[in-house]
Amino acid sequence: MNVMEIYETMEYGPAPESPTLVLDWLKEHQPFGLFINGQWVKPASGNYLDTINPSTGKPLAQVAAANSNDVDAAVAAARVAAETWSKTPGHTRARYLYAIARHIQKHSRLLAVLESMDNGKPIRETRDLDIPLVARHFYYHAGWAQLMASELPGYEPVGVVGQIIPWNFPLLMLSWKIAPALAMGNTVVLKPARYTPLTALKFAEIVQEIGLPPGVVNILTGEASQVGDALVLHPGVNKIAFTGSTDVGRTLRRATAGSGKKLSLELGGKSPFIVFDDADLDSVVEGVVDAIWFNQGQVCCAGSRLLVQEDIADRLINKLRARMEKLRIGDPLDKAVDIGAIVSSAQLQEIQRLVAQGVEEGAVMWQPSWACPTEGYFFPPTLFTNVSPATTIAQVEIFGPVLVSMTFRTPAEAVELANNTRYGLAASVWSENINLALDVAPKLKAGTVWVNCTNLFDASSGFGGYRESGFGREGGKEGLYEYVRPMWETSSSSSNGLPIAIESTHSSDGSEQAVSTDEAGEDEMDHTTVSESFNGYHLALPAIDRTPKMFINGKQVRPDSGYSRDVYDPRGHVIGQVGEGNLLLRQHMRQAAGHPVQHITAHRFSTTSPRTSRYVKQSSLIASCSRQAAQVQIPPPKCRQLSRASSVTLPGPTSTRALCIVRPCVESCWQ
Ligand code: NDP
Repeated sequence: MNVMEIYETMEYGPAPESPTLVLDWLKEHQPFGLFINGQWVKPASGNYLDTINPSTGKPLAQVAAANSNDVDAAVAAARVAAETWSKTPGHTRARYLYAIARHIQKHSRLLAVLESMDNGKPIRETRDLDIPLVARHFYYHAGWAQLMASELPGYEPVGVVGQIIPWNFPLLMLSWKIAPALAMGNTVVLKPARYTPLTALKFAEIVQEIGLPPGVVNILTGEASQVGDALVLHPGVNKIAFTGSTDVGRTLRRATAGSGKKLSLELGGKSPFIVFDDADLDSVVEGVVDAIWFNQGQVCCAGSRLLVQEDIADRLINKLRARMEKLRIGDPLDKAVDIGAIVSSAQLQEIQRLVAQGVEEGAVMWQPSWACPTEGYFFPPTLFTNVSPATTIAQVEIFGPVLVSMTFRTPAEAVELANNTRYGLAASVWSENINLALDVAPKLKAGTVWVNCTNLFDASSGFGGYRESGFGREGGKEGLYEYVRPMWETSSSSSNGLPIAIESTHSSDGSEQAVSTDEAGEDEMDHTTVSESFNGYHLALPAIDRTPKMFINGKQVRPDSGYSRDVYDPRGHVIGQVGEGNLLLRQHMRQAAGHPVQHITAHRFSTTSPRTSRYVKQSSLIASCSRQAAQVQIPPPKCRQLSRASSVTLPGPTSTRALCIVRPCVESCWQ
């Protein structure tokens, strides 16, 4: 293809994300064990399950198939951990959650690629939405951990929480569940969905990396009949948090009834997308793309019912068809792809079955003229018109890229149609008339109503439904109440003789270390230990995790590769992670190599700061030289700019020094 042709067609160039690092990581780890009590253990059954890449239909990795014995072990570990974790001060828990958030960011690209490969969703979504939101949830809940005592007085943790998550947003749903649970002092046993266990396993590795005390997070892969049932029925579990289908939600409600277990259910939906005739139709079209073709329509709050005012229906449908014709389906790792693969062949067959039923029931189906890839599980974006409100496709959650459209004449009719469903999860209203939108929104029976937008989420905003969409909220202050109970309910549990001081913590390689609260001080090399006193008790307090940065062109820059690697001290201990340099950095590397003085970092500290000694020590370790050789030059604080700058002259060839710039030193962890 030549330049003129590209100008003519405006065709996208190939831009697939490389799976190499993920494949290396998978090769290194599989078959994956279960993550129980901070350790990787083999499943009691000795059995393993394949997880499939939906865009190829080929196996990606083998994961352990847990059974009820493993559930017993995980719950026992969580119960022991709960004794200490529930008494750990909010500030300490906040530091752990903060460290998790930081490490999610350090591994963001690996997580994004892994999620795309395991689930089939486009990399653009995992990279720009799922993973940033995951980090945001942990940051946000770190704040709540810190504030729990002052903002939720009279409440205490529930205890051990069993969490069951679906396959449509594997890591995001994990964060929605684990972040508030840990923030409120609970410990968890989490079961990822059978189809998409891999990012949860990478998360377990992160939990080890940051030194979270063992047993606080336990992850069991396996089948629902083996793990899910045992977890739900286990007497050692105090709460079940579930996201998935309404049918399973119903089963769980029956199973937990009368057991005293707390329960929250985030279930299905058939959300209306209401378009009034004064709406900006071009925005509406993009809104529909986000509503129903985002994540292949496998979204509980997908705007799967398009309700459009009759006088603009033809115009909108024509615009939509034109847009659908331009949607790109294919390799989820291609950054220009809009629609990836359906999660499994079973889900694909279910979508095909419901679409065939829609045609049988008299609706008119339209699909773009292009064909889907033949390898893997793909289904084209599909639009139904001439749909009657009582038909199956208008009522049942299809959970695929299938939009059904209906028309209305008046706002009252729109509300009636919108509420004509057994679900109540979400809705969106499109109109340039804010009075109309604000009149209609509260009349819709839905947990969330968006106006002139859709599928927007934030950790600070509670999400959840009612009716057959479940109950309970995730996110926001309201979401915290799912993970606490009033102290008067269990007046004995808060004084059950649990130890308050944490006597040990875990190093980044997972091995347990004794922590002397007197010795652990500023000179400690690893990131785990400084001591602090709370209410007269001495506690091991994890140091605040710092994000290592690149030093490019005179300033600190966040690494943009989203990959990190461990840095070891000469004794072989992990002392931190640094971002991987990537293509963009090559030019800066060349510049750096020719530069007379190798400024490897620039950051805030003063000559009087105790950090200076750490800085020298760290620098000497990085360069494998003596402390004297790693001379720290700190300019006098003449001006703000200068007082923040420092430089380190390291021995060694220029290439080594240049490398220091691309893979920055752990020193920046202290910034
Ligand atoms: P499920 O509701 O069956 O699965 C969700 C999670 O629950 C998975 O981890 C699953 O484990 C687990 N699970 C299933 N049965 C039990 C049980 N009896 N006890 C405990 N845990 C259980 O969803 P599916 O994957 O079967 O999808 C079917 C339909 O559900 C979809 O077509 C869609 O309509 C809806 N759905 C809705 C979601 C939402 O976000 N609201 C998310 C996913 C699905 P395992 O994976 O091992 O089966």
